[in-house]
Amino acid sequence: MPPPWTPSFFTLKRQRCPHCGKFEGLNRHRHSRLTDKGFGVHCERLVRGQRVYCSNRNRRGGCGRTFAICLAEALPRHGVDAAALSRLLAALLAGQSLKAAAEAVRTPFALETFYHLCARMRRRLDALRVLLCRDTAPPACVSADAFPQTLAHLRATFLAANPGADMSGMCAWFQMRFQRPFLG
Ligand SMILES: [Zn+2]
Repeated sequence: MPPPWTPSFFTLKRQRCPHCGKFEGLNRHRHSRLTDKGFGVHCERLVRGQRVYCSNRNRRGGCGRTFAICLAEALPRHGVDAAALSRLLAALLAGQSLKAAAEAVRTPFALETFYHLCARMRRRLDALRVLLCRDTAPPACVSADAFPQTLAHLRATFLAANPGADMSGMCAWFQMRFQRPFLG
């Protein structure tokens, strides 16, 4: 079985309507995938979400409203996919420099792309930590820098929920768990 943050596993059964709290009548809207420009070889569109309809027909008991859910594997507006960023963060957690980590990830993205993503993440540390603290307290960390502290917190929270899982799923799991884009 694929990990729960991959699109093939993605299921509405894990979702609730944010308006009325029901989950029985949720339907994917046809032709309502939310996409972003992709940066792959063919610039494929990245699916980053989907509009969902909370059905009030046929005694489904919903409220008839729609809402958007974000799929886990895309980072909205950033082109780089969640798995590539997760592998970069895992390499940073292993003590590599950003340059070495970016090279180890082996993606077509330029080093500046990862500098940009890490700068973006640094501006979001407070928001990320508030969400992570819902699940686990921050681990003891020797670094006084908030960036490695938050990375360690992300790893601890991810592994607490997914023991033994591959670290490349960190960012996708975060987005599925908290229904927020990792990089805003
Ligand atoms: Zn509803």
